[in-house]
Amino acid sequence: MQHMDGTIFVIMGVTGDLATRKLIPALHELLKDGHLQKCAIIGVANDQTATIDSILEKSKSFIPEPNSDVLQKIRDVFVYQPFDFNDQSGYQKLKVTLENLESQFGFSGQRIFYLSVMPDYFAPITQNLALAGIIKKGDNSRIAYEKPFGHNLASAKSINKAIHSVFDESQIYRVDHFLGKELVDNIALVRFTNLFLQPLWNHQYIDNIQIFLNEEIDINHRGAFYDRYGALRDVVQNHMLQLLALIAMEPPKALDGQHIRDAKSAVLQCVKVEDVIKGQYAGYRTESGVNPNSTTETFAALRLSIENDRWTGVPFYLKTGKCLRAKNTSIHITFKSAQCMVSTPCPPPQNHLIINIDPAHGFALEINAKVSGYSNQIAPVPMTFCHSKLCPNSPEAYETLLFDIMKGDQSAFVRFDEIEHSWAIIDAAHAQHPETPPTIYEKGSQGPDELKIWAEKYNFVWRD
Ligand code: NAP
Repeated sequence: MQHMDGTIFVIMGVTGDLATRKLIPALHELLKDGHLQKCAIIGVANDQTATIDSILEKSKSFIPEPNSDVLQKIRDVFVYQPFDFNDQSGYQKLKVTLENLESQFGFSGQRIFYLSVMPDYFAPITQNLALAGIIKKGDNSRIAYEKPFGHNLASAKSINKAIHSVFDESQIYRVDHFLGKELVDNIALVRFTNLFLQPLWNHQYIDNIQIFLNEEIDINHRGAFYDRYGALRDVVQNHMLQLLALIAMEPPKALDGQHIRDAKSAVLQCVKVEDVIKGQYAGYRTESGVNPNSTTETFAALRLSIENDRWTGVPFYLKTGKCLRAKNTSIHITFKSAQCMVSTPCPPPQNHLIINIDPAHGFALEINAKVSGYSNQIAPVPMTFCHSKLCPNSPEAYETLLFDIMKGDQSAFVRFDEIEHSWAIIDAAHAQHPETPPTIYEKGSQGPDELKIWAEKYNFVWRD
C-alpha cells in the first residue's frame, strides 16, 4: 500500500459546499485506508463563527461510514483560520500557523493548497500567498484550483498568467473531478490496450460519437453562480470536452501525465463548432438568485467536428442539461453499417460501443447476432462489463485526486493549454446565434424540440 507522510493541506473555502461534501470526506477515507498517515489540515474561510467542530460535524453526514478514531485524528490535526481572502494580514497569520505545525509535527514542508473557491479568487489568493512568503516558485508546495477555471478564454489566460508568475506548471493541479472517476480513467486504457479497437477508431468505421451529461436535478440553490455560467461554461468546457479529448486524441507516446496531456491538447486545438442548440427549463427565471430576464442556458447541444485525418467527416454531438428526463452521463460510439449480405434487416443495425459513467458504470458493446430459429434475422445483443460488480469498492473521485496531488501525479489534471483550447471552443459556441434566446423546454423532457430537427437535418439518431 502506498502512503504519503507529512503533508499540510490548506483548504481555502473550507466552510463551503465542496469542502463539506467532498474534500473533508475524501481526507477521512485516505486516512482510514492508510494512504495518508501524517498530515495536518488548515481550513480558511470568512465565517468568524464557524469552529472546527461545526465544520467536521457538517461534513460527517457526507462520510459513508464515519470512523470515530479517524474523525478524532482529523480533529487533532485541524486548525481553522478565518480571514478574508483579500486581507493580507490573514496570510501572515497563515504563514505562522504553517511553520508552527511543521515544527510541532516534524514535517519537511510538503504543502498542498486547495482553492475550493470561485475562480475570481484564484489569482488574488495565489499572489497573496506568494507576497506573504508562504510559497515560492519551484518549492515543495502544490496548488489545486477547482473548476471552472475562469469564465472565458480571456479570463482563463489572465489567471494562467498570474499563477505562472508564482508557480511552475509542475506545481499546478487544475481539477476536473470527472478525470478522477474510474470509468473516465479507463477510457485511454481501453482504447490503447485493446488492439482490435485501434484500426476501427477513425472516420472509416465510425459514423458519429455522442457524449451526454443529462441531469435530472435543477440548479440546486446555486442560482447566483449558475446564472453567470450556464451549461456551456459549467460542464461542457470542462467535463464534456475532457471526455471528447480522451475519446478523440491520437495515441500518446506513453500513457502518462505529460503525454496524455500533449495528446488531449493537440486534439482540442482541432475542434470546430458546427452548430449549437441552447435551451432553458421552464421556471428557471423564477429560481432564487436568477435574473428574471435571464438568457442563461440550462441546456446545450453542440455539433462539433475535428479537423484532422482521423476524424474528417465524423460529427461529435455533445448534449447536457438540467431538469432532463433521466440522469445519464455516457459516451456512445456508433459504427458505420456493415454491408447488406443475407441478413434481415438490411443493412444490419449499426454496432455501438457505450461507455456508461453515471449512474451506470461500465462498458457495453452492441454486436449483431442471429435471432434464434430458422430465419436469417439478426438483432443487436449487448456484451456488457459492469464496473461496480467487478470493483465494488472503487474510491471516490476526490479521494483519487487528492492522493494524486500528494504523489505529484498530474495525469488526471488539466494543463494550461488544454484549458485555453477548451475555452476557445466555448467562446465560439457562445458566438453562434448570439441574439437568439435559449428555447424554453419542459422539466422532465429530453430538452428543446430542435433536437428532433437536428436528427432529421443531420440524419442520425439520438442515443439517449
Ligand atoms: P461555496 O459553498 O460558496 O463556498 C465558498 C467558500 O469560500 C466558503 O467557505 C466561503 O466562506 C469562502 N469564501 C468566499 N469568499 C470569501 C472571502 N472573501 N474570504 C474568505 N472566504 C471566502 O462554494 P462551493 O460550492 O464549495 O464551490 C467552491 C468552488 O468549487 C467553486 O469554484 C465551484 O464552482 C467549485 N465546484 C463546486 C462543486 C460543488 O459540488 N459544490 C463541484 C465542482 C466544483 P464563508 O462561508 O465563510 O463566506
